[in-house]
Amino acid sequence: MPVANSIAAAADQLREWRQDFHRHPELGYEEHRTSKVIAERLHEMGFDAVETGIGGTGVVGVLHGRNGPGDEARSIMLRADMDALPIHELNDIAHKSQTEGTMHACGHDGHVTMLLGGAQHLARTRAFEGSVYFCFQPAEEGGAGAKAMIEDGLFERFPCSAVYGMHNWPGAPVGSFHCRSGPLMAASDEFTIRLKGRGGHAAKPDTCIDPVPCGAAIVQALQTVVARRVNPISPAVVTVTTFQAGDAFNVIPETALLGGTVRSFDSALHTQIYAHIERIVYQVAAAHDIEASVERSEKFYPETVNDAEATAFSLAVAREVAGAENVHDGVEPTMGSEDFSYYALKKPACFMLIGNGESAGLHHPRYDFNDEGTVWGASYWSALVEKALPVG
Ligand SMILES: [Zn+2]
Ligand SMILES: [Zn+2]
Repeated sequence: MPVANSIAAAADQLREWRQDFHRHPELGYEEHRTSKVIAERLHEMGFDAVETGIGGTGVVGVLHGRNGPGDEARSIMLRADMDALPIHELNDIAHKSQTEGTMHACGHDGHVTMLLGGAQHLARTRAFEGSVYFCFQPAEEGGAGAKAMIEDGLFERFPCSAVYGMHNWPGAPVGSFHCRSGPLMAASDEFTIRLKGRGGHAAKPDTCIDPVPCGAAIVQALQTVVARRVNPISPAVVTVTTFQAGDAFNVIPETALLGGTVRSFDSALHTQIYAHIERIVYQVAAAHDIEASVERSEKFYPETVNDAEATAFSLAVAREVAGAENVHDGVEPTMGSEDFSYYALKKPACFMLIGNGESAGLHHPRYDFNDEGTVWGASYWSALVEKALPVG
């Protein structure tokens, strides 16, 4: 079962759809045009139901197999994310973003199109028994759209036995698939540190309480959290990414603001790491006579953990589509994060990576989804449904 013939025949149409999404990128929870176009396409395909406005701009298309709806055990969910990024596109291409400062730099335009390609094929053939929920999710890029859809009753309204997702992977050949059982992507959250001293003239530091050396000492001390406090067998990252203070060369600022991210493959470890961060910040600040606060953002993404059985199954499907030589089990986990993790907390789930060829990296202003990969992704989705819900 390599690339399905009807999907190969639809390649030009899928390219057009993908490039249209690329021209019209929308940020998280603002995917109004995108979700409208998706819903229209699903209606045109003859879907049994199309529900919109789930978790904000989310869309779920419902497709039943040849013997009508399936129960929870005979239903699965396939998920694609829809949102773009606040990046100014530097590609000089005909389908360049028409929205200044917004760009599909993570290939979610391609994810939507691959899922629509699979949907179109399956709506024609209905070569399965049960129900498939095609989930088009808002706000993956930091907005936790997956969580929003789940909190809006996703799994009560569309009960299913497993959830599958896919992300394109720059640097891996087109038509190749990569996965692993267990943790694939990291848990991630953000912190903000506020420091308050007493500003004044740069020539009179003795009359001020300068937050800048205090901030510098905190940045240095935070390097010891992972190096000295986390079990070396558990990968973790604490990175300070922003340090803002002052506006003039001759003024000691009143305040300083530091921000950063924590990553690991163990949500529980984050709680321990935060305890270390707080201890260091408060005590270093106290030593500098500075008032400090540490804020942990609500925007937490848990680690993405692939279910062993769902992963073995997904890899078997990928081998049928792409050939065993193009399917790689045991891919190295990445410190990137994904809100697909929220589905995986609720249901057996597998997140697959699909080759995007030698493109620029994800989130790069010259990135573009590789249209050559679409037929592979759409065929994977179709084969996955036909194999998960076989006609009896
Ligand atoms: Zn991204
Ligand atoms: Zn992405």
